[in-house]
Amino acid sequence: MEIGGICPLNSLRRDNLLSMDNSSISKVFADIAVLMQAKGENVFKVRAHSNASDAIKSLPFPIAGIVDDATRLGEIPGFGEAIVEKTQELVRTGRLGLLERLLEELPDGVLELVQIPGIGPKTAVAAATELGISTFEQLAASIESGEFQSLPRISKKSAAQILRHAKMRVDQGERIGIGSAIEAANNVITELKTRCPNISQIEVAGSVRRMSELVGNIDILCSVPDNESAITIIDAFTTLSNVYDVLSHDDKHAVFTDRAGFKFSMYLVRPEAFAGALVYATGSISHGIRLEELAAGKQLKFTSDGLFDSASETLEPLDSEKNAYGRLGLSFIPPEMREDAGEIERAVDDDLSSIVTSDDIRGDLHSHTNWSDGRYSMEDMVAAALERGLEYLAITDHSPSATVANGLKPDMLLAHNAAVRELDQTAGVRLLTGTEMDIKPDGSLDYSDELLADLDLVIASIHSGMDQDEDTMTHRVIAAMESPHVDVICHLTARLLGKRSPVLIDIDAIFAAAVRTGTVMEINASPDRLDLSAEHVRRGMDMGVIFAISTDSHHTWQFDNMRFGVSTAIRGWVESNRVINTLSYSNLMAFLALPKSERYAFNKSRGQ
Ligand SMILES: [Zn+2]
Ligand SMILES: [Zn+2]
Repeated sequence: MEIGGICPLNSLRRDNLLSMDNSSISKVFADIAVLMQAKGENVFKVRAHSNASDAIKSLPFPIAGIVDDATRLGEIPGFGEAIVEKTQELVRTGRLGLLERLLEELPDGVLELVQIPGIGPKTAVAAATELGISTFEQLAASIESGEFQSLPRISKKSAAQILRHAKMRVDQGERIGIGSAIEAANNVITELKTRCPNISQIEVAGSVRRMSELVGNIDILCSVPDNESAITIIDAFTTLSNVYDVLSHDDKHAVFTDRAGFKFSMYLVRPEAFAGALVYATGSISHGIRLEELAAGKQLKFTSDGLFDSASETLEPLDSEKNAYGRLGLSFIPPEMREDAGEIERAVDDDLSSIVTSDDIRGDLHSHTNWSDGRYSMEDMVAAALERGLEYLAITDHSPSATVANGLKPDMLLAHNAAVRELDQTAGVRLLTGTEMDIKPDGSLDYSDELLADLDLVIASIHSGMDQDEDTMTHRVIAAMESPHVDVICHLTARLLGKRSPVLIDIDAIFAAAVRTGTVMEINASPDRLDLSAEHVRRGMDMGVIFAISTDSHHTWQFDNMRFGVSTAIRGWVESNRVINTLSYSNLMAFLALPKSERYAFNKSRGQ
């Protein structure tokens, strides 16, 4: 394929690109809700728009497809006449008069500022009108100068918290969290496959495939059999429903941005070059350079179009990425490890088969049902776990302090245990009774020792008092670890990727306490959290920590998030024998039956 030819695209004009995807439409309604709240509008109107936003986000089909059918639109939960009309206006014209009016009436920056935890719509308006703040940089500067603290209801302490979150957003720049990025990438791939059935292979590559926490753009690699198909695919790619602006395109490469300015690029290769090209397109820049050097040493040339013989310029036949690494004298390196962080040295004489994979995972140790804040019944969650082939599942609804999450009072916990034990008889998946118990701000626990002793599994978390200083927070978590009943510490830093910065905590002190007390550290697989981070996980590996990789599912489909937790573990070089939910049910129960002080030694004996 030649570079540089211009495809005869159907049209790249914006006014022909009116179809919008669900997430953009959902975002418009969410923005309206925020702006209405900032304006002080009636709470019911605000709620109607935020409910519509939620409903659109969870629709299993593109809402744009039924835009002319007002009856079907009206059947969507929370869709009254006004919402139906607005949806139609938005999908048909690509704009919404109400949003434009609200944006005009309110000062710039409100929609940005409300994304910071601790800043509500009222404060955002005050900051924007009185102090002229419209960006995260200006917000940080205003707090540092002390000006921001003059606003009503802003204490010194809350200003310090807001500053941490604002700085995180400044550092993050235009990048988005991996969870949103994967969703966007999957939407693009699904739509492309529907429109171009002749695509032979398509994969998201780059930082999304490596599962970097924050990503700046989405790279897609696709293989096509001939030039004609290439033109069709480039045409489809540049007219996808989320295209806003096509930046460039030729017969093998195209780049566009969506409405939010986020960049998507696609690269086309022939099927026989796909495996090599995928290795090239996935690794970090420095990983790629290392591979180019290795290739040169073998009289090969490693490029974005695959691996070539330097002398003859012929493509090396490779049928898999494993093959590509093998040709360079290396074992297969999982995509998540391709960062030039020592993996190339290790892959010279280690086949990396000890690194955990999704196939090693046998159960899930963190899930919620509608007994607390889950969306589904215990039966539905268990059926979903069974469908995914899990051998065991711990049902860990919230404890009383988690009032917003409808935490279970002691008598309800007893009833919950009985329900889990009864369901265990017929479930087809072994069930563990459990709780996700709040660690209270003073480090005390949310249930009595007597109640905790009755549970198969106790996982414990920080859900409140997240603004504590590092010392207090560290002691608070270690106090919980000292309990003989606390088996696992969940989502240690309580961060929300791209949205809420982690709590201040001494990671090394926590890991040392985990090893000393026999406590397991959770790798929370929710793509919004990925907590522990890969960096923390790798540090934990070095310090001898044992992990659990758990989905924290609140919906049936969230069990599929396990792969994000596994990817985080792989980024942290976790070996499968360091993960307790790679144990069989009987071995897991044997592990949990031991006093905590003996558990790390028990785990060490695995596989020996
Ligand atoms: Zn939690
Ligand atoms: Zn949870």
